[in-house]
Amino acid sequence: TSVLEIKDLHVSVETDQGSKQILKGVNLTLRQGETHAIMGPNGSGKSTLAYAIAGHPRYTVDSGSILLDGEEVLEMEVDERAQAGLFLAMQYPVEIPGVTNANFLRTAKTAVDGEAPPIRTWMKDVKGAMENLRMDSSFAERNVNEGFSGGEKKRNEILQLELLQPSFAVLDETDSGLDVDALKIVAEGVNRAKETTGLGVMLITHYTRILRYIKPDYVHVFVNGRVAEEGGPELADRLEEEGYDRFLTPAA
Ligand code: ADP
Ligand code: MG
Ligand code: MG
Repeated sequence: TSVLEIKDLHVSVETDQGSKQILKGVNLTLRQGETHAIMGPNGSGKSTLAYAIAGHPRYTVDSGSILLDGEEVLEMEVDERAQAGLFLAMQYPVEIPGVTNANFLRTAKTAVDGEAPPIRTWMKDVKGAMENLRMDSSFAERNVNEGFSGGEKKRNEILQLELLQPSFAVLDETDSGLDVDALKIVAEGVNRAKETTGLGVMLITHYTRILRYIKPDYVHVFVNGRVAEEGGPELADRLEEEGYDRFLTPAA
């Protein structure tokens, strides 16, 4: 099984006021098949971790490493990260004007696999995955995320996840903006990927609600750019009751 190791990761973001250190030594190890919830208050650096794994140009890794089966992810181009088996669903999925969802999916699948998927099984897979996610077939011919509601964008991310079949998925606030029905549909999609491909999941969330539907094996609490506490699912239950107050020291 694959292993994703994040070691002593320090990351800065480029802002108009200069460079600002956000991640201050993050250590995490995920094995394929495991689900890790990354929780924490707003501004604690959760999305910064996702962007660093994705290779977003605005986020500079100052030190540390991200190893996928021993290979340095930080040395890979963005498309190489996808080919290596990483899937990143961002908090704010981007719109791609002029590119239909169907073409995007086929291009992405071809890039990830290194060969075009056989047309007949592929069409069937896309149709089936869309039906599972209760997406109207018209979404195949619409431009990627263009004019999609927040919930439709999140569903579309899971559609990509199910079709690309990565080893690890980083899902950043995939629950935000979803009503409970949409949340269940999205969670079913993630759970299907876990069952069928042994997907490893880094589930970034502020709220515990999604963890009722996607059960974490481990919970890590992010505070001020570091993992402040970790445990099993019971830690999420505790956060549900107590919130993040005990982690937040009064401002100096
Ligand atoms: P979270 O996802 O946990 O809410 P983020 O990683 O989005 O946290 O942000 C962590 C901190 O980094 C926040 O203080 C945020 O304002 C800052 N930050 C993140 N990205 C940028 C950016 N592009 N420009 C300026 N500040 C940023
Ligand atoms: Mg936030
Ligand atoms: Mg965030």
